[in-house]
Amino acid sequence: MSAVSFTPSRCHIDLAALQRNFARLGSPASLMPVIKSDAYGHGLFPVARALANAGARRFAVGTAGEGVALREAGFNQEIVPLTGGMTLDEWRTAAAHTLTPVIGCFEDMDKAAACSRHDRLFRVALKFDTGMARLGFSVDDLPDVLEHLRLRPGLSPVLVLSHMACADMPDDLDYSTAQIERFTILCAALRVAFPDIERSLANSAATLGLPESHFDVCRPGIALYGGNPFADTAWEDRGGMLEWVMSVSAPVVQVRRINAGQSVSYGRQFTAPDSMTVAVITAGYATGIARGLSNHIDVLIDGRRAPQIGRICMGLLVADVSAIPDVRVGDTAWILGGQGAPGVRPVSALEMARELGTIPYEILCRMGGANPRVYNEGKKLLVKEAANR
Ligand SMILES: *Cc1c(COP(=O)(O)O)cnc(C)c1O
Repeated sequence: MSAVSFTPSRCHIDLAALQRNFARLGSPASLMPVIKSDAYGHGLFPVARALANAGARRFAVGTAGEGVALREAGFNQEIVPLTGGMTLDEWRTAAAHTLTPVIGCFEDMDKAAACSRHDRLFRVALKFDTGMARLGFSVDDLPDVLEHLRLRPGLSPVLVLSHMACADMPDDLDYSTAQIERFTILCAALRVAFPDIERSLANSAATLGLPESHFDVCRPGIALYGGNPFADTAWEDRGGMLEWVMSVSAPVVQVRRINAGQSVSYGRQFTAPDSMTVAVITAGYATGIARGLSNHIDVLIDGRRAPQIGRICMGLLVADVSAIPDVRVGDTAWILGGQGAPGVRPVSALEMARELGTIPYEILCRMGGANPRVYNEGKKLLVKEAANR
C-alpha cells in the first residue's frame, strides 16, 4: 500500500483463523465453502486461496462473474455460481470457463442447454425449493425437470441443492426436519436417473446443528468467517469454537480534554457530565460504521473499552477515553476485534449487529467493503504492524 492512502482505517483479515474455522466444519471433501459477495466482505481471491491451501475442492460463489474471475485467476476447483447466469451470454461464459452453475427454473435450463457442446458435457447443479420459496424448481416440478433433462443430453447434473430457511432457530426444528425430509425424498427420485448426483442442503447452521442435513456436501458461509449461527439461542455451544476472521482498526488523530457541559459532535447528542478526555478516531459511516450506532457502541483502545460518544460522522468518531491512561495521537483504536485486556471482550460483529437490529453478515459485508484490507496469516503480523506505527 502506498505511504498515503485515502482511508487510514484498515480491515484486517486473519486467514489462519479462516482456515481453522474451515477445519472445524468438516473434512474438505465434505464442504463447499460459500464465498459469495466478495467472501462476505473478506475478499474473494485471498479467501479462495487460503481455503484452497486448506484443501477446499469446491467453491460456491454468488454470480457467474465471480466464478469467471476465480477461473481466470487460476483456480481449478469446482466453482458453483449460486444464481446461475442472468443472460444467455453469461451462461455461455460460464460454460466456456467450466463453471457448474445452478439451474433453478426451466428458462435457465433452456439457456444452459443452448450453451452445451457436443464434445463436452456442461456440468450443472439443480436447485429445488423445499421451504424458502426463493430460488429453485418446486419439488412438484421433478417429473418435468427429468423430462427436460432427457431431451437435453448436453447437460450433466452433478449436484442437487436446496436451502434451509430457519436452521439457525432450534425452536423451529420441525420446519427444518420437514425440509430435510422433502429433500431426502426428492434426491432419492432424482438418483434413479442420476445415480452419482451429489446432494447439498446444509448452510452454516445446519452444518453445525443438524447432522441429518449433511448429505454429501455442506455449504457453510458465515461460520467460516467466525459467525456463530446459534448465537443467543439454546444451541449457542454448537458454534462456540468459531473465531472471527475480520477485525477493523483506525488511528487516534486527536486527544482533547472537554469540560462538564460541553457537547460533542453534530446535533449535540452527547453532553459531558463531567470533565473528560476524548479521542477522535478516523472511522465513520463512510468506513462502514453505521451512524445508527451513535452513542451505542464501544471501541477498544489499549485493550480497554472506550464508549463512543456523540453522533458518528462520515470519517470520524469520538470516544470517551477518560478511564484509559495515556491515550496518544497515533494509538490504534479497534472498531471490531483487537486484543482485549484480561476480562475485556473486544467488540464483535455480533454485538454491533444486535445494537443495529441486524445480523453479523451485514456488518461484515459493510466493513469489509468500506475499508482497505490487509491480510495476516496469524497474529504475528498484526504485532509487527503495530510496532511499525
Ligand atoms: C449464502 C448461502 C449459503 C451460506 O449460508 P450461511 O448462513 O452463511 O452459512 C448456503 N447456500 C446458499 C444457497 C446461500 O445462498
